[in-house]
Amino acid sequence: MEKTSLNETSFAMNMNSSNKQETVCVFGTGDFGRSLGNKMFQCGYSVVFGSRNPELSGLHPKGIEVLSHAEAAKKSDLIIIAIHREHYDFLTQFAEELQGKILVDISNNLKINQYPKSNAEYLAQLVPGAKIVKAFNTISAWALQSGTLDASRQVFVCGDDKESKQRVMDIGRALGLAPVDQGSLMAAKEIENYPLQLFPMWKFPLYLSAILSIFYFVYCVVREIIYPYVHEGRDSTFFLAISIPNRIFPGLALNLLALVYLPGIIAAILQLYRGTKYSRFPNWLDHWMLCRKQLGLVALAFAFLHVMYTLVIPIRHYVRWKFNSRVIEQIKTNKTEHFNPTSFWLRDSYLALGILGFFLFVLLGITSLPSVSNMVNWREFRFVQSKLGYLTLILCTAHTLVFGGKRFLSPSILRWYLPSVYVLTLIIPCTVLVLKFILVMPCFDQPLTKIRQGWERNSKKAQFGNGNTEV
Ligand code: NAP
Repeated sequence: MEKTSLNETSFAMNMNSSNKQETVCVFGTGDFGRSLGNKMFQCGYSVVFGSRNPELSGLHPKGIEVLSHAEAAKKSDLIIIAIHREHYDFLTQFAEELQGKILVDISNNLKINQYPKSNAEYLAQLVPGAKIVKAFNTISAWALQSGTLDASRQVFVCGDDKESKQRVMDIGRALGLAPVDQGSLMAAKEIENYPLQLFPMWKFPLYLSAILSIFYFVYCVVREIIYPYVHEGRDSTFFLAISIPNRIFPGLALNLLALVYLPGIIAAILQLYRGTKYSRFPNWLDHWMLCRKQLGLVALAFAFLHVMYTLVIPIRHYVRWKFNSRVIEQIKTNKTEHFNPTSFWLRDSYLALGILGFFLFVLLGITSLPSVSNMVNWREFRFVQSKLGYLTLILCTAHTLVFGGKRFLSPSILRWYLPSVYVLTLIIPCTVLVLKFILVMPCFDQPLTKIRQGWERNSKKAQFGNGNTEV
């Protein structure tokens, strides 16, 4: 890591010194134009601004010229257009001056896919003789000014002319940014949508956990608060503070963890059914697969909450009252609770499974951090996320199953025909584990492995080739 950053720095410094005399023109002396121009000036570029009112614009360091658009355009063959798309049509009057020059489009829109054409393609249409490059739109004026580029160093660059793109990427590197080549100008629309996306991968996990939380909450309120009130007139509303959240959180953690692995199973079933890996998955499945890391992290957050809520159980007043009442009851009736090793085994196993499951859960979370995942190879990453992930799911499911213990068979578990919430939370993880167990059987695993290596059931080669390729 250290090596890379040193290389990057020295590369940036080299670029810096080799480009010292290069003049870059910036159209527009607004927030972004000024920030980018000043930053380039600090990095050794000669900067000239093109403005509608060159005489009015101040706040530029000594050495930066502010001229009219036509005059400024003559000074450089690379012009950064730091102007909103809505005003681009004024550029048509400078078509001659801009002929053959590199125009860098840095603009963003207010809404995703606001226009049918990307801003960069629109610019290319307005000034057909220029070479258009899209870049710098993911960097904010504030970040350039304050120098705190840590949050957003990546600059996505695209354009049809390779040389122009390379020059813009060199400027990016010289400014200490990390340019990423996104290909031709057709990628501009996607690049323009990047800064408008608000945690795109987190929406599905967060909505899903909100829906599940509401469902489990209402379910618990009916079972744990309304039912005892109706049947015994007992006020159990204090369960809302700790007992009910501590039933919802583990359930959510377990369900979301299982939902991390369910799309992989659905994908495997689809591949087996289609007999090929070359058919596209439905969009919802693609999106679900892309959100797995976020789903896992939300699950881990709920597991943390469950651990914290569980740790306070011994200091709860209600629990101490219940314990004391039981002791007093035994004294009054002169009956001692039997020493029951089976029950102790169950309790201890349930706790041990929970502790181990949580430990592996945390390990999974740590390995998903980019700083850690960058240090392991693909096989190691897959081993941790898949094999250890399934082991975590098995341990956490077993933790819940053992918690239920004998109560699963007892009719007292039902209240208004509703079983305890932990029974419901076991449905998804048990389904995932059973399906996974079926899929690892050789009769399914072997054809699946072949399909994933590129074999197709309906291809001519499979039909007329050697018999080994039959499923
Ligand atoms: P701004 O502060 O409003 O500046 C825009 C500049 O455009 C003005 O200062 C003006 O410069 C020029 N201009 C305004 N009306 C014009 C017209 N009718 N004809 C010609 N020129 C006109 O906006 P900004 O924040 O710098 O944003 C400029 C571009 O950068 C936008 O496309 C934006 O999406 C993009 N961007 C901004 C940021 C950011 O953090 N601000 C980040 C990424 C991308 P003169 O008075 O000198 O002519």
